[in-house]
Order: sequence, then structure tokens, then C-alpha cells
Amino acid sequence: MSQAADVLAAFRDVVGSEHVLVADDARTLASQDVYRAGSLPLAVLRPQSTADIAQLVRLARAERLAVHVRGGGMSYTDAYLPQHTHSIVLDMRGLDRVREIVADDHIVTAEAGCTWAALDAAVAPRGLRARFWGPMSGALATLGGGFSQGAATFGSARHGSSASTALDFEVVLGDGSILHTGRAGNAARPAFFRPYGPDLTGLYTGDAGALGIKTAVTLQLEQRPGAQGSLSFAFKDFTTMRAGVSAVARSGLATEIFGLETALARLAAGDAALVQDATTLWQMMRAQRTPLAALRQAWRTTRAGRTFLAESECIANVLCEARDATRLTLTLDDVRRVLQPYGVEVANTMAAVVQATPFPPPMVVGPRGMRLLPLHVILPHSAVDGFHAAFEILRAHEQVQLERHRVQMFVVFAGVGESALLYEPVIYWEDEWLPLHHAVLPAALRTQLAPAPANPEGRRYVESLRVRLIELMHAHGGVHLQIGRAYPYLRERTPAFTELVKALKHAVDPDGLLNPGALGL
Ligand SMILES: Cc1cc2nc3c(=O)[nH]c(=O)nc-3n(C[C@H](O)[C@H](O)[C@H](O)COP(=O)(O)OP(=O)(O)OC[C@H]3O[C@@H](n4cnc5c(N)ncnc54)[C@H](O)[C@@H]3O)c2cc1C
Repeated sequence: MSQAADVLAAFRDVVGSEHVLVADDARTLASQDVYRAGSLPLAVLRPQSTADIAQLVRLARAERLAVHVRGGGMSYTDAYLPQHTHSIVLDMRGLDRVREIVADDHIVTAEAGCTWAALDAAVAPRGLRARFWGPMSGALATLGGGFSQGAATFGSARHGSSASTALDFEVVLGDGSILHTGRAGNAARPAFFRPYGPDLTGLYTGDAGALGIKTAVTLQLEQRPGAQGSLSFAFKDFTTMRAGVSAVARSGLATEIFGLETALARLAAGDAALVQDATTLWQMMRAQRTPLAALRQAWRTTRAGRTFLAESECIANVLCEARDATRLTLTLDDVRRVLQPYGVEVANTMAAVVQATPFPPPMVVGPRGMRLLPLHVILPHSAVDGFHAAFEILRAHEQVQLERHRVQMFVVFAGVGESALLYEPVIYWEDEWLPLHHAVLPAALRTQLAPAPANPEGRRYVESLRVRLIELMHAHGGVHLQIGRAYPYLRERTPAFTELVKALKHAVDPDGLLNPGALGL
């Protein structure tokens, strides 16, 4: 029997034959992210427990197989893509249980393959919600992926990224041993207070899966809000919008802030994307508490239509929450006062849809079925205009090439805490879809959106743009979530920093088999 057959048999003994996938289509899907494909692994394994993972890691180590951990597969930073065939992919979605909700202490422990949507559904009946409660991909993206990426969005204007809300990670290390980063003393009690000496929990936020395999996470809950509302403003240009949005971020009034260039909203609101809008509008109405509220919301969104899109360069959406409707009205009025010097209030269609349907099926392709690659950089408010000016020079300089290769670039942005903004250039281009796109898109959209013919030259151009944009971000001193293999985490650090990170990697993964290349390690 060959060596590969032996190791596959050993894997089957641990997780059962049905959880060892060797068919080409399963390996193909598991080796792709939203941007591109890696090498085919030897097998895709679907562990069901922490003990399974510990055993699988020991077996992989004996064979020196690289171990790539995949959650929802909703990233686009090469973060888990196998680099060669002597590798396995662990599909974490079998570990999806919510283990314990301690309502008195506002704490929940859930397994790493649980999605953000499932976690939210589990804690909602207790009137609770995670403090950071998900990325916009949370219908499929997992807790393990979110914390390994340092995900941001829901709750981020108030709490920053997901990183600050974790209390403990249960992690399988590269030798198969199990670490708890935050639980202390009585092992029966979940972690409840993070600052107890050096912060090992922090070490495992944004680690791109390079330092271990998260199998469970304990995180902070908060009371669900009694009332939610939103408003949207249009701005004549990016700089004015940035000033207004920074003012809202600093005010601490918003729970989420996000926006985009009007040209992108216009592109997204056309043609087949309207189908998606109709679906989400319906979901939004269903999410309203009373028929009257649903009617009012529907009236506002349909009456306002999309006329405002023509009048501005940028749109910002501000989502707010409060204990009751009276306090919410006061908060929204406060936000209005902050934004009025900068822009004009417009219909809050997009904001209301996002607030009502926080976990829609992730749109892994762009408007009209174009492929998409979001990049991002986080900058302090004071540095965003400078970066935007540099981005505009690059975009103008590339205009001919962009058109030639059927590529478009737009800016999206979001608030992350009170000191910084997340600036996200999104690249769209016409190209064929990967099997992952076909597999993930809901059936209704697959019939409405069609892939373009293969565009290998355009793809190469997009890759060159990606590299240049990341260089530009680095030159402006930006930082990143979702580091994966895409962003230069170790570049231009002090030697002491780099040596410490490498020593940590060696301590937790002596053979360098866990997600090799992630974080630049
Ligand atoms: C439509 C769309 C919307 C998005 N919206 C947002 C958004 O609002 N905010 C945001 O921050 N991002 C967003 N993203 C990006 C991405 O979906 C998120 O970063 C998400 O958190 C990834 O989670 P995942 O489970 O899919 O992780 P994966 O893509 O499967 O993995 C990401 C990284 O985490 C590692 N990993 C996964 N699980 C584990 C584990 N258990 N232990 C150790 N390492 C692990 C992987 O090895 C990899 O390095 C979006 C993406 C799409 C396509």
C-alpha cells in the first residue's frame, strides 16, 4: 500500500470515511478562495471535534503534511490556499456547536466552525448578541475565520474589530496539544475577564491561522438593542464625506458606519442586481416588528428610489442603536447634526437593508457577475485624505489599462473604532467564475448573473494592480485585518519584533506545518 493510501486510511480511522474527501471536485472547492485557486491538497478532512483535530494534526505531522484550515472560505487573501499537494485542508464546519451560554455573565462559548449567523440565532432568544457580531459574510463565514482574520463590521464603529471581544480561544497547536489562551484556574468556568497577565488571547486574533487551529472561542455578549435605525447622507466629494464620517466615528454615536462611491451604488443598482435588491427588501420588511413599521420602511425605500445616486460622489450610511425608540430618535438627530455641515440627507435604502438583513447570502461576485477582489487598509482619520489622493492618481494613471482589460475600481469604506477608518478599494473585472463562485451563489442569482468569458490577461493585470495597491498602502503606513498571505505583516519591523514572532511560531508549530506562509511565516 502506498504512503498516501496509508495516511488516508489513518485519517479515516479518526473521522470516518465520509469525512475524508479525495474526489477532485471536493479538493478543488476547498483549495479556492473568493479571489483565486491554490494547489490541490491530498485530501479534505472534516473533523467533528477538538479531539479529532488533535489526532489529525499528529498524523499530519508524522507525514510532514502541511495543514490548511478553512472556515467558511469567504476570504480573498490566499489565507488558507494549499501551496503544494503534500498538504491537507481541514474543513472546520463540522465544529459548529454553541457549547454554553452564560447569560448572567454575558459570555458564550461556541465552536470555531459555527457561523456568525448561527451564533446570533442561538443567543437572540436570551435577548443577547455578541459585542462584535459578524462580518457581512456572516451567513457562511465562521467564528474561527473571523477571529483569525480580525474581522470587522457589525459593532465595529463602537468596538473596533472582532479582536477586542474574544475572551478565550481553545487552540490545537502544531504538536497536537491543546491550549486555552484565556481560561484560568477552575477549568469548568469559562474565561470571563481578559486582562490577566500577558494577553495570549490577543496573540490569536488576526493570526491568519499561522499559530494554531482554533477549535472554540469564548466571547463577550451584550444586550440586544431595543431600537435600531439608520440614516444616509450623500456628499459632493470624497474628502467632504471623509470629514463627516470621521466626525461621526469620533462622536461614538454609531454602531456601524459604511459607505461607497456613488458610481458603485449606481453600478450595483442596475440590471440583475435589482433581483438581489428585491429579495433583500422583502427580508427587510419581514424583519420589521410590526406591519406598520414594515409598510413605513417599504414606503420610504421605494418612494426614495435611487434618484439621489445621480447627485453626489459618495454616500455614507450610519447605523445606530438605543434602548428604546425615544433614545434612538435623539441619537439619530445627533448624527444628523454632526453630518449636516458636510452633506445632504438622502433615503436610507441601503442602510436599512443592511440593518434588517445583516447575514444575506454573501455576494462573492460583483455587479453583473463581475469577479471581485476587495483590498483594504486601515488609516487614522488624519491620514485618509492623503492616501485617497494617491489612490486617485494611480486610478487616473491606469484608466486606459483599466478599460482595455475590462477592469473597474471603486472605493468602499467603513468605521473601525473612533481613531481610524477602513479604506477598501474593490477591483471588479470581467472573467470566468471559479467553482467556488458557482457553489456559493444562491440559485436565484446564478440564473440572473452570468460569468464573462475567460480573461487571463485581465486577471494578470488585476494581480499587478493588487500588488501595487498593497505597496501604496504600505508606503502610507497603513495596517491591515485579513492579513493571510497578502499583506506584508513582517516588513520593516524591528529585528526584535520579527525574531519574537518567528520564535513564537516555532514554539507553537515546531515543524512549520500549520498554514505555512500565512503572516509571512
Ligand atoms: C461578500 C463578502 C462580504 C464580506 N464582508 C466582510 C466584512 O464585513 N468584514 C470583514 O472583516 N470581512 C468581510 N469579508 C471577508 C471574509 O469573509 C471575512 O474576513 C471572514 O471573517 C472570513 O471568515 P471565514 O470563516 O470564511 O474564513 P476563511 O476564509 O475560511 O479563512 C480565513 C483565514 O482564517 C483561518 N482560519 C479559519 N478558520 C480557522 C480556525 N478555526 N482556526 C485557525 N485559523 C482559521 C484560515 O486558515 C485563513 O487564514 C467579506 C467577504 C465577502 C466575500
